[in-house]
Amino acid sequence: MNSMEDLLQWPDKLISAISGKLPAETLQSLQEAFRVGICVSTDFSGMGCPEYAIGLLQRTLLSKCPTGQVGTVGIRFTRCTDKQPHCRRVLMNHPGADQRCCFGDMLGRMPTGVATMLTSMLTEAKQELKEAKAEKCTRQEQLEIGSEFMKRALHLVTRISPEDLAQWRQDTHSHCFQHEGMCKVFPPPCSQFKLTCNIAGVNCYDFSSRGARLGWMGDSTMSFLQWVLERRMERDHIVIAECVVPFPHSILDLALGDLYDLAVLSFSPTLLGKPYARKRKYMILTLRSSLTWRPWATARSHCDVFSDTFGMKVMTSGAIFFRAPDDEVQEWIKAMAMKRGLPTVRSSGRLWSYFQVIGPGARNRITSTEDATLAKLATNGTHVDPRRLDFTFDTTQSKDFTAASLTCPALTQRSLMFCMSKRRCQTPFEALETHGFNLYGEALEHHPMCPFKDILGECSEAQLRSLAGNGMDVPSIGAVFLFVLAGTSEAAT
Ligand SMILES: [Zn+2]
Repeated sequence: MNSMEDLLQWPDKLISAISGKLPAETLQSLQEAFRVGICVSTDFSGMGCPEYAIGLLQRTLLSKCPTGQVGTVGIRFTRCTDKQPHCRRVLMNHPGADQRCCFGDMLGRMPTGVATMLTSMLTEAKQELKEAKAEKCTRQEQLEIGSEFMKRALHLVTRISPEDLAQWRQDTHSHCFQHEGMCKVFPPPCSQFKLTCNIAGVNCYDFSSRGARLGWMGDSTMSFLQWVLERRMERDHIVIAECVVPFPHSILDLALGDLYDLAVLSFSPTLLGKPYARKRKYMILTLRSSLTWRPWATARSHCDVFSDTFGMKVMTSGAIFFRAPDDEVQEWIKAMAMKRGLPTVRSSGRLWSYFQVIGPGARNRITSTEDATLAKLATNGTHVDPRRLDFTFDTTQSKDFTAASLTCPALTQRSLMFCMSKRRCQTPFEALETHGFNLYGEALEHHPMCPFKDILGECSEAQLRSLAGNGMDVPSIGAVFLFVLAGTSEAAT
């Protein structure tokens, strides 16, 4: 794959890989799953990357359906949840969003009794942590306090009776921003739909090597526990949780192992041929009483089968993620100039360059990374003009994380990617395109323009960058979703 257009046509590439590399009936059973119908809910939804990916997959899969099989039920999105208002704004402008509920902070739906007990356990653990810190306990010992708390909390959550779970499932209502009123959070599964699936990008900040690293003592712990509780209430056939690689996935066995089988995939979008390094862990839970993995999917490790099926060579560089039209780049630079109190154009009447409108600190960081890159290349006997290098690096990262390379590094909420050959950083829309949204190009056969581009245009630059930093890589979550649908079948009763 060597151009942005090529990369954006990933739904076709993934589906072709399935028909080319997997047993002949796999494609048909996939199409059948989409035809019979799948209900999808998302939590920690962000800007709705899974919904965007699944929508594209459905479009491509059905276009390959033999004629006479039309009349598809397809995918129904039932719920999304995010506590950030700008995320909800984007979610509520997805196509067909009026059909699904959009909720705020999921902690608001924790049953009161459970919330009281868990809060008191957490307060106790935090006190213990405070004392440990005062006694200068090692970091490992401090993290251990968090793990112990989590074990105790899960002990409580997993012992809630099926009757209580059923009651809460039926009774839980929450304010729905889409329908402007109280809506049922867990509507009864519709008989038309055969499969139900929940996808969540569980908060990774406390486990990321660049984040707060507070582990289970961080702010996201209570929402994670509520998410576990809801999984026990809803018992979807498939659950997919995405997080950073250090996330201790064995906790899911402890939380849901009595109901679900856990399979873990760990990969970066580079595996799918995309010049973007964002290694993430995808934890796939399948409801043991309903689904079982097909023999081909478990013949070797899930990771091996996944990479053999979808693996593609990276043929291009991160520079392709810098494709904003010149006039938009100029407008963006002009806006930066004004923010710094400069006139919109230079006194000569000529346009500002990117370097002229950024602060001295940013300029220094860029030049020092460039110099280090050139010096490294020179030791191998290569002398080049930086303008000829399609290398990218994140100008906001500390020295330990900054290395210019042909593969674009992972975006965080504050990232500003610089491309040496383009002599500028990424516009916020380009950051979103790195995640897999079609915002600047043409409508392609397997990837139309992003249908909620206008609403993104109304977000602030900081909001757009945080959407890009938090979101899931679109083709990656699409590939995981396809893999689990293709790789599982109904469990024998
Ligand atoms: Zn609603």
